Amino acid sequence: MPRVTPFYAVKCNNDEAILSALAALGAGFDCASDAELDMVLELGVPTGRIVFANACKRPRDIRRAAEKQANLTTFDTASELAKLARWHPATRALLRIRADDPAARCQLGNKYGADPSEVPALLQAAKEMGIEVCGISFHVGSGATNPDAFSEAIALARTAFDAGTGLGFTMDLLDIGGGFCEGRVMGDVAVAVNTALALHFPVSSGVRIIAEPGRYFAESCATFGSMVFGVRDGRCAKSGAAIRDYWITDGIYGSMNSLLYDHATVAPRPLHMMTNEAVNGATDLTDGPMLRGCVFGPTCDGLDTVLHDYALPNLDVGDWLVFRNHGAYTFVGACPFNGMDPAPATFYVFSEN
Ligand SMILES: *Cc1c(COP(=O)(O)O)cnc(C)c1O
Repeated sequence: MPRVTPFYAVKCNNDEAILSALAALGAGFDCASDAELDMVLELGVPTGRIVFANACKRPRDIRRAAEKQANLTTFDTASELAKLARWHPATRALLRIRADDPAARCQLGNKYGADPSEVPALLQAAKEMGIEVCGISFHVGSGATNPDAFSEAIALARTAFDAGTGLGFTMDLLDIGGGFCEGRVMGDVAVAVNTALALHFPVSSGVRIIAEPGRYFAESCATFGSMVFGVRDGRCAKSGAAIRDYWITDGIYGSMNSLLYDHATVAPRPLHMMTNEAVNGATDLTDGPMLRGCVFGPTCDGLDTVLHDYALPNLDVGDWLVFRNHGAYTFVGACPFNGMDPAPATFYVFSEN
């Protein structure tokens, strides 16, 4: 998507190494709170590369944006406009419209985005309150899988742009939000976005295009290791089959909160099998007999169960399970319930280039 400048969504993973790598590569940032704004500014990112893309901000967030002269934000209600007029009248604003991918992994449209029918009245309200509207934003939902959702959203944005221009606003910025996944579907999404942009916002329109990817950048750059520290053998009450349960050092109060909040699924593999594969080229991934069982998190809560009825080779206390692609919406949501630190050590690996 050569015309689209990424503004990384800090909420997805606010690790300083990720933020500073992206900042050094020239990315912008999507902040949603005063603390996220401070974090990005402390890395030396200029305010021109920040969008405060939370359509309903707390007063303290708006005051901080005003203080730091972070002058680009989003809104989708008249109430938000009134707050902006009161605490940050110099801001420029993007009207966030609702344009959902109903198949996205995490829905956002229940909470954010103005219905197309509301657009004229909201633009009129901005005019009356003296807030400068400079473009349109949307977010089709996190973990989107339907390229058509982007095409349709960009077409809706065009209609809203024209309404803004009609009211005398200088509409020069389109923010196509986040929702991008790694993998095959991303190719189709890119084609859909590029085609819809060429149709509705051709280069000659002079409109600048930004996006707010979170998951796309943060997911695969983090691999998580958790140690087995408890084992229990038993028999399935129904079938009588042998089962083997494990306790590991991280669970749903830690980085695996993604199982609840991000609707994630995890499929860990034992570290020694991955090492055998990498070092010896061993392809026997079963490594002997497999037993099914639960993988429990470390806290004293029965809900803290990472996997149910999951097949693993024989493991013992001191073995490690490896979770790949574990960087998006994981560590940011972790808490130290039961006094257990969700990620006691982090190692950074990067190329000399
Ligand atoms: C969460 C969020 C993003 C990032 O979404 P991804 O699906 O991770 O790309 C971008 N913009 C806004 C406003 C968000 O709330």
